[in-house]
Order: sequence, then C-alpha cells, then structure tokens
Amino acid sequence: MALSGLDIYKLLPKTNCKECGFATCLAFAMQLAKKAVTIDKCPHISAQAKEILEAQAQPPIKLITIGSGDARLEIGNESVMFRHEEKFHRPCGIGFIVEDCLNDAEIKVRVEKINKLRFERVGQELNVNLVAIRQISSSERFIEALKIVADNTALGLVLMSNDAQALTKALEITKGKNPLVYAATKENAAVLGKLCAEHKIPLVAKASDLESVATLIKEIAGMGADNLVIDTGKKSVAEKLWDLTQIRRLALKKSNRALGYPVLNIAESSDIYTEAMEAATYIAKYAGIVLLKNIESWETLSLLTLRQNIYTDPQKPLQIEPKIYPVGQVSDKSPVLVTTNFSLTYYTVLGEVEASKIPSYIISVDTEGMSVLTAWAAEKFTPEKIADTLNKFGVATVVSHKQLIIPGYVAVMSGNLEEQSGYKIIVGPKEAAGLPSFLKNL
Ligand code: SF4
Repeated sequence: MALSGLDIYKLLPKTNCKECGFATCLAFAMQLAKKAVTIDKCPHISAQAKEILEAQAQPPIKLITIGSGDARLEIGNESVMFRHEEKFHRPCGIGFIVEDCLNDAEIKVRVEKINKLRFERVGQELNVNLVAIRQISSSERFIEALKIVADNTALGLVLMSNDAQALTKALEITKGKNPLVYAATKENAAVLGKLCAEHKIPLVAKASDLESVATLIKEIAGMGADNLVIDTGKKSVAEKLWDLTQIRRLALKKSNRALGYPVLNIAESSDIYTEAMEAATYIAKYAGIVLLKNIESWETLSLLTLRQNIYTDPQKPLQIEPKIYPVGQVSDKSPVLVTTNFSLTYYTVLGEVEASKIPSYIISVDTEGMSVLTAWAAEKFTPEKIADTLNKFGVATVVSHKQLIIPGYVAVMSGNLEEQSGYKIIVGPKEAAGLPSFLKNL
C-alpha cells in the first residue's frame, strides 16, 4: 500500500533544514506522498530510507513494452482495481497465434489476415497488437516461420518456444524488434532469464500457482531480466479469473512487487464462441495480453469494442468536435439535422444519414459528450443552446432554407426552439435507424 505523508516523514532526517525548498520535513513528506516532488530534493536522507522511498515511487504494476516503433504495445502501469476509481490506462494487447506447422503460404495468408484487422468505431481506429509464432515443429522450421511472419507484419512479436537454441537464433533475427519471449518456467528460467537479460527484452514467467509465479519472478528478476509478463498456464475460465483478480489485488493493495507485472492469457478453443467468451472475460478483468487462435473479423471487432469501452475514461464520455458536418454532396437545399456531440450518438446518426444517400448537414451541439436524452435532462441540449449553435456555426450562410430536424425524443422542445431560432422545426424519428426512410420521404 502507498505510504502516507506521516509514514514518509518518519523516514526523513526531521531537521527542518529547508534545503529541499520546503519549510519543514513534514511539508516535504506531504508533497512526496502526493508525488508532487522527488526524493532527490532532500540531500540528507539516509541510503536506507532512500531505497524504501524509491521502491515506493515505482508503479505497482510495471510498464512493459513489446515491439518497437508506432506498433509497439505498452501494458501494465495500472493503479486501480475498478475503472470508476480513476480509469484503466493501457489497453490489453490482442494477438494471434500462428503455428510453424503451417506451410509458408498458409502462414503468409494468416499474417495478412491479421494485418487487416483494423476497424473504425466512434471516430477511433481499433487495432490488434501482436502475432505469436508457436513452435510445434523443429527449431529450423520455427525460424523459417518466424522469418515469414517478421517480414510480413509490423506488429509486435511473441516467440513461443521452449528451445533455447531456437530462441537464441530467433533473437538475432528479430534484433531491434523487442519481441516477447514465451515462456520461462522453473526448468528453463536460468537459460531464458540470462538470454532475455542480455538482449534486454521482455519475458513471460510461467507457473501454475501464484506462489510459484512469485518465486520464479524473483529468480528471473535477480538475473537482470525484469521486464516480465505473468502466465498462470492453462486453466478453467473461473480459475483464470481468480488468478487475474488476485494478481491485480496483491500488486495494488498489498504492494507485492513479485506480482506487479501484467498478465498474459491464451484463449484458444476449436469453438470460436467459447474462445470469444474466454477472451472477453480476460479483457474485462485485468488481462495485459490475450492471445487468440481464431482470426475472424466478427470475433476481433467484438473484443476490440469491449476493450475500447473498458479503457475509456468513465468520467469523460467520448466526444466529437461540436460543429457543422456535411455528409455527401451537400447543397444549400440539403436538410439540416441536429444532434449532440456524444461520439456514439453522432456516428450512429452519421451512419444512418449515409445509408439514406440523401446529402445532409449534421450539427453537433456541445453537450459535453452526453447523449440526446441525458443531455436534455441535464439541460445541456436546450432550445437556447441549439439556437446559439446555429448562429455560432453560421448555418444561415450554409443553407437557404429555415428548417431544422430534431431527434424525436426531444419533440417537446419544438415550440420553444422555433421561437428561439426562427427555424421551422421538423421532429425526426426517435431512433437513428428511422432516419433513412424519414429523409427519403421528407
Ligand atoms: S532537505 Fe530534507 S532534512 Fe532538510 S527540510 Fe527538506 S526534507 Fe527535511
């Protein structure tokens, strides 16, 4: 647990010499507890106290980077159990397993399919992160498969092999790519720990129970390989969920440094629905990485959507810039629809307007990212605000008519809005899905 200002004060010299820039040691301790200053500002602190406080300043879950360049994945560094306490910072990496028993052409096809798993949702690009090459065949074949994968993707790599010789060769091939090595166990920890320490690359520490994981991690970290990821092996979903929750709790609430690393989970099943359910469970509850076997757009999009929702700030709804958006080949006769600047609302309306094939203008009113009914109830989507927005964006200079379509849910504001804006108000459908037929019949 984090040290309080008083705990920190007990470790300071208590001479109030002011050299740190604060009037008293207590004032300095309070700022240190808030992480507003660093310990090096006090030149008189003992080496032992410094060590304790520096360890305390480390994030409870270590930040681990896999891959390099723009496609690198950063996981860990989380600080809360529940997203409403603050927010979750680093979205779980999603990767796909490619086995070396496939032929060259099959590997290439799989990698190309993985590369294409990019989606746009509510104005954000959703991407997958990793390709894991798993050794099933000989070490020579593993290296051949790795070369094909590495030549055909910019995504981060996971090297899944127990063969130290094959991994040594693999690390030469992937120099500069910062791959994740999977996995050090009790049996091979000495060899893989040394290898990963030398290459300064991340390594998965794998053991079936938390005590064994902690022991293994201490051993590997002692060798200088402390960019670690945890795996507790193949278990039922309920058992994995227990492990994930306990690891997070022990790292955050009990400051258990040996478990202060992100966790990797493999969700592979011949039944894709089971795999999707498993992966969704792990994403929802603290996984740092989830590796999948199936490569299907619908499964991936569902998981990426779930991840996007979990890793948004619950106190800041996704919003778009409030402004007037032309959709299609608009003219001064095009209809004008008004909605809020909540991303999900705007993009739903946009999709339906595009589907109608009627060029239109959409005006997004600044409702601080609230949806239509919420904003109306919170008095953020009022006739006055809409009228102001029409003036602010110069709608009268864009279209030659004076008609405005409002969402059906706020039909009640029609009269007032007509008075405030001078526009004739047309009440649109309650649901965006009704827009195509509504616009066609307008
Ligand atoms: S420099 Fe150190 S000893 Fe001096 S007041 Fe600040 S905390 Fe206390």
